[in-house]
Amino acid sequence: MINELKLKLLLDFEAGRLNGLSRESLNGEAKTFLLNRGLKVEETPIGFSQGIRGLKGVGAFKATVVNLEKPLEELELKYSGTFRSYEKVFPYLKDSINREYTLLRTDSLFYPVPAEPSFESLVKSVVSSEFYAEITIEGVPDDLTVAFGGEIQGNLLRIGGTNRLDIAIAPFKVIEEKPFRLFLLSDKGVERTVELLRRTYDFYSSILGRKNLIYTVIETPENYGGQAGKCYALVSGSSLRSEVPVNIYHELAHLWNPKATPEAHLSRFFDEAFANYLTALAVKEIHGENEYKKFIANLEWWYKDILKKNPEAENLKVPEWGRKGLHLLSLSYSKGALILKELHDLMGDSFYDLLKAIVSADVIDFETFRKLAEELSERNIQDFFERYF
Ligand SMILES: [Zn+2]
Repeated sequence: MINELKLKLLLDFEAGRLNGLSRESLNGEAKTFLLNRGLKVEETPIGFSQGIRGLKGVGAFKATVVNLEKPLEELELKYSGTFRSYEKVFPYLKDSINREYTLLRTDSLFYPVPAEPSFESLVKSVVSSEFYAEITIEGVPDDLTVAFGGEIQGNLLRIGGTNRLDIAIAPFKVIEEKPFRLFLLSDKGVERTVELLRRTYDFYSSILGRKNLIYTVIETPENYGGQAGKCYALVSGSSLRSEVPVNIYHELAHLWNPKATPEAHLSRFFDEAFANYLTALAVKEIHGENEYKKFIANLEWWYKDILKKNPEAENLKVPEWGRKGLHLLSLSYSKGALILKELHDLMGDSFYDLLKAIVSADVIDFETFRKLAEELSERNIQDFFERYF
């Protein structure tokens, strides 16, 4: 896992090439690193070998696998090459370097990630890390703007406490209206979007407590996949400007995520189920009862669809969702949010006290969740917890 990352990037927008110098300090030692399949290591302080290999689990996902002579805790690595997309494996992963829209995401390995050549090892390494990063970018033409979720000072980017990096470069228009900073590809419909963002932010603040920070929204072209990082989100133009922009409501809700224990985090209940149920509440507050009902009906439809493909999911308890494999994680988005709706119906207004208690807890797991709910509820909710947890 990375602890600190210092990265110097020189981008060539005509050739789609990248020259990188990375300095990583890790939590513990690592010997194997993964890098974008188009990039090659030129220099390290010790001996190494490298080759392009498919990752175990997702063989079509090819990466440059770098093996060091011996494991290191601090690593300096010089690399370069043509930065290649992974569109053929994951259609959303269109990351590339060009004048129209450049995107560099952790997912496409634009810097060396310490992991074994297996997809599971890669996901684990990324999800469990929390690092500080400093990136300098050179080669950006004057008419393009660098968008980033953290601090931007000239060509220096900084972010702390993150597990991933996302850098977009395009002819962005930048709008700063506290607490929001938006990097947009067009002015169209911007005022309405900013107004809706503000109302959602105020609504979440009113039920969960106010946060004092800047939230960044970066527009992507269509089908680049939504992405949320620490205090920022990458959202497509159509999601940003849709009549009821639920995707941004969802990403914004993540700002109030409680900190779950690693074990509890596996099922994604405390982040994704909560984010989606908060989205439902925001839809009701801002767009009214009808849109809310549509949103809930959509979650029910989604859940039924999951059951069609995975009938065994019906009898699983929430803590089991994460242990049974990645394909069941969408249960948290759908069924998880519906379970929270049921709990809200049972608890009435004391549900909001529960939300506040969870958000301000140092760390949360299913047992603490049950205890808090039972403490705060005026009704007996034992059956509910036996059924689902
Ligand atoms: Zn989410």
